[in-house]
Amino acid sequence: MSAQLIDGKKVSTEIKKQIREDVENWVLAGNRRPFLKVLQVGNDPASTAYIRAKTRSCSEVGIDTDTAHLPDTVSARELKSVIRSFNNDDSIDGILVQLPLPSHLSSHDVIESIDHRKDVDGFHPMNVGRLSVDQPTFKSCTPAGIFELFKYYSIPTKGKHAVVVGASNIVGTPMAVMLSRENSSGKATTTICHKFTRDITIHTITADILVVAAGQPNLIKAEMVKEGVVIIDVGINRIADETSEKGYKLVGDCDFDSLKKKASWITPVPGGVGPMTVAMLMKNTLLAAKKSIYPEE
Ligand code: NAD
Repeated sequence: MSAQLIDGKKVSTEIKKQIREDVENWVLAGNRRPFLKVLQVGNDPASTAYIRAKTRSCSEVGIDTDTAHLPDTVSARELKSVIRSFNNDDSIDGILVQLPLPSHLSSHDVIESIDHRKDVDGFHPMNVGRLSVDQPTFKSCTPAGIFELFKYYSIPTKGKHAVVVGASNIVGTPMAVMLSRENSSGKATTTICHKFTRDITIHTITADILVVAAGQPNLIKAEMVKEGVVIIDVGINRIADETSEKGYKLVGDCDFDSLKKKASWITPVPGGVGPMTVAMLMKNTLLAAKKSIYPEE
């Protein structure tokens, strides 16, 4: 078998085109252009690259944005006071605090200080909780993007065995929640593996759909899956590459070359899940501007 490629770049371009039209119609109807405020603490190069991709997408879809910078020595109190000022600023629709934060700051604490009505990443406990009980919410962007890929390529999840490797708050856990809900989204029987799972192969080998978000290059190899599996590789890992100008290349968590011979569908890295995550951020920002999730009283 040779897997069909799930082209996140193509699908995200189509979704962003639709978002651009929706944004222009919103503005033509007399509304202010949506505005996304990004906050970067410190100057981690990977974070800077992610923010660049997000702000580029904003300009593609017609969403205004700017990035505030704080030094990596900022105190929790100072950071939260800046976030509070964004919460209270009516010209800001969405707030994104780029993660990870320096180790002296608690990301839980910082995320909770964002007004959940502006939490376009979908990381605030209010939005995560609403996701778990099938209420309208800002869905965490990466799982939401993966569901758009399932929809686009008509990949069924209902009744399937889905295995998620990785249980982080921002990817693995919301992905497993969305896959497992019986009244919305996934309707799949779902297994979550994490670093304490004794033998992940026992689980991955039975997966109809395998979503991998562990941040471990080459974790999943062909002998760990069954013929016809759908592989969604969320991992983005920088590994040294002397042949590249940058000195590194990006790889996922899955051994693409061996898996593509066994899977029915597979996402590449880059160009798979990554661009979808950014497209969903654009979607959530427009939803925030329209007050679609949390209507004004
Ligand atoms: P994280 O470090 O917060 O969580 C990693 C999870 O993987 C943990 O639950 C851990 O227990 C599990 N894990 C680690 N090693 C394991 C192993 N050997 N076996 C089983 N489980 C293992 O990471 P995260 O923020 O969820 O990100 C995961 C990966 O996805 C990273 O490479 C990150 O760069 C990437 N990512 C990609 C996108 C995207 O849009 N494509 C978005 C977010 C994160």
